[in-house]
Amino acid sequence: MTAGLQANEFKLVGGNPSLDFVNTVGGWGGNPLKKGPRDYRDAVLSEKLDGYADLVVWSRHVGLLTNKEARKFLRLAEQKPQAAEAVLERGLKLRGAIYRLFKSVVENWRPDAADVERLSEELSVARSHEKLIYAENRFSWGSDAGEDALDRMLWPLALSAAGLLTSGDLSRIRQCGGDNCGWLFLDKSRNRSRQWCAMNDCGNLAKVRRFRQRQREGG
Ligand SMILES: [Zn+2]
Repeated sequence: MTAGLQANEFKLVGGNPSLDFVNTVGGWGGNPLKKGPRDYRDAVLSEKLDGYADLVVWSRHVGLLTNKEARKFLRLAEQKPQAAEAVLERGLKLRGAIYRLFKSVVENWRPDAADVERLSEELSVARSHEKLIYAENRFSWGSDAGEDALDRMLWPLALSAAGLLTSGDLSRIRQCGGDNCGWLFLDKSRNRSRQWCAMNDCGNLAKVRRFRQRQREGG
């Protein structure tokens, strides 16, 4: 199994692992099948996690797995392709739920119970692996090694999403205003003015568009 993507194709602009996880799509767009008053724009426009191997490469890239662990999980996935595929499917469902939960924060909507439930279930799995560790004269939280647990990268993602959602300060969560982007990020700018996932991507496109608009209007 070879990963379809090189790690450097994944941009990390979210400021939080769970937001970067949401940004493993080319963009989030309107869902034509969606009925109801709320359009979460949760259709995946271009999937970057085409296989379990992509999930492993990305997890290594964000630091959720070491190189050694990533290699081991890629090997394990070759031995258990169906189990690996099932983890990817679970991961993508979790990603959708995390996206919609934060989107509802951004829009000030009451979140869908199904999404709360999905994250809560993954959180229970993650918590079931938590361990109290005593080393170097202090206590800390760790997790059991999860040596053969193909879903191990999902644990910190569920924990980081729930951690951010319960952190109290959700006012810095933003959605990029770029066309067909919809990426999420934490606005850490001092005056809370960040509009774009990346200035040299969506920000530039918007500048070019405004420039052309002015030219047209100027005649
Ligand atoms: Zn963007």
